[in-house]
Amino acid sequence: SVVRREALAARAVWQCSRAYASTAPTTKNYINGKMVESKADKWIDVHNPATNEVVTRVPESTQDEMQEAVDVAKTAFKTWKDTTILTRQQYMFKFQSLIKDNISELAKNITLEQGKTLIDAEGDVMRGLQVVEHCCSIPSLQLGETLSGIAKDMDTMTFRTPLGVVAGITPFNFPAMIPLWMFPMALTCGNTVIMKPSERDPGACMMLVEMAQEAGVPAGVVNVIHGRHDSVNFICDNPDIKAISFVGSDQAGSYIYERGSINGKRVQSNMGAKNHGVILPDANKENTLNQLVGAAFGAAGQRCMALSTAIFVGEAKEWIPEFIEKAKKLKVNAGHEPNADLGPLISPEAKQRVLDLVQSGVDEGAELLLDGRDCQVKGYEKGNFVGPTMLHQVKPEMKCYREEIFGPVLVSLEVDTLDDAIDCINNNPYGNGTAIFTTNGAAARKFTMETDVGQIGVNVPIPVPLPMFSFTGSRGSFKGDMNFYGKGGVQFYTQLKTVTQMWRADDASIGQKQTAMPV
Ligand code: NAD
Repeated sequence: SVVRREALAARAVWQCSRAYASTAPTTKNYINGKMVESKADKWIDVHNPATNEVVTRVPESTQDEMQEAVDVAKTAFKTWKDTTILTRQQYMFKFQSLIKDNISELAKNITLEQGKTLIDAEGDVMRGLQVVEHCCSIPSLQLGETLSGIAKDMDTMTFRTPLGVVAGITPFNFPAMIPLWMFPMALTCGNTVIMKPSERDPGACMMLVEMAQEAGVPAGVVNVIHGRHDSVNFICDNPDIKAISFVGSDQAGSYIYERGSINGKRVQSNMGAKNHGVILPDANKENTLNQLVGAAFGAAGQRCMALSTAIFVGEAKEWIPEFIEKAKKLKVNAGHEPNADLGPLISPEAKQRVLDLVQSGVDEGAELLLDGRDCQVKGYEKGNFVGPTMLHQVKPEMKCYREEIFGPVLVSLEVDTLDDAIDCINNNPYGNGTAIFTTNGAAARKFTMETDVGQIGVNVPIPVPLPMFSFTGSRGSFKGDMNFYGKGGVQFYTQLKTVTQMWRADDASIGQKQTAMPV
């Protein structure tokens, strides 16, 4: 295992020095415990967002390769489902220790392919690691229920049984955390898994599945295929895949939810967001402004739980100049540079989309109080950088308010009362997260009770629940009825089997003829 860890570390360092598409190594399929070169004729270049140099090429896995992955997973399920739960638990103990040992290598790969700062990339791994740690409790998590004596000599009990082969489709913005929301929980519940990581940064997922194997998870239990639409359609249509976990944009999420559901699969789909931070004038000013700066611009705004919209209530609007001063101090740089507070956007197209949305706000009458559009980073002139940007006096009908910007852009509104702020949030179609900043308990309680959003923070800007809870985005941010990780995750990846049995010492009294419904 030391050799493997050194190999992983060497690979992360080596990838940092790669430069040209023609020499860039390929990302492999991972089938039956082996990294396998794809025979694809279509390949997708993965770029370092800070330089736009190609770091690896990802295949659009062929139909045969994808079918092989499913066949292997289907065969592996036959034995994996009967592996004892204590064995699966032991694999998770080992897996969590391997991830911990390799955090910095994973983070280097994330920074290389995704662009976020190294410290933020470590956070990406840590938040996924916490799900693996939670999976170590699987014997308790997967407990069923029993009730004895529901009739004479009769007891009922439930078992949570695995579904079979399940699939995970992940977005680019958390290349470690989101795969870790999916495959550890799926496999500890006894399923086998097909992962389809984001074609824009698959490296962390590849490193993680190798570590799972090193931890003892048998070949075929987790497999990885790659691609875009064809691989997604394959997953939605393949009859042997019983459930799909998706995280990503609205467009893909709605499509996958519908296509997977029509094909009889269980689907959970976490999608886009527009998260509002409400600032009351009684809040602790220094703490609130610091939290707001971090949650709006951290990770260059490429977080589904970024606080991308601020609602200043009443006199709180006077704090805006101070907020801007703090935002101006953030350092934009390549993610591996030690002073970086925020890195580049994922692609030149993503950058252009952000610039267009900022311009649309200006054209529709918003005030551009901070303009990060012309952001030059010395030494990284070709990177996809945008600096912290703030559009104020935004109105709900403006495009920059209606659409998820997914960049370091805060849109802000002024309202007179807390009721106005709550109305504004409830009129927005998304329900991923929201936060209130206040020292008034009654106001905080009113906000938490009356706001129709699935995850609420009180003086906490990014209220992503730890894995003993579940990720509970709602309304336009979620399709499905069982959430990711926590109790919801165990429910999603298992089917309840309810057994009712009668054991009576005196056999003669069993089996009397009865044609009416037994009561
Ligand atoms: P994306 O939808 O472009 O990609 C996600 C996955 O779907 C990828 O694996 C991709 O290959 C596939 N895909 C993309 N377009 C597709 C299409 N038209 N048809 C079928 N499959 C398609 O998302 P992204 O840009 O990688 O991620 C950013 C989005 O994800 C943002 O909207 C963000 O809010 C959302 N997100 C949500 C959560 C959450 O928990 N709610 C978490 C992280 C990210």
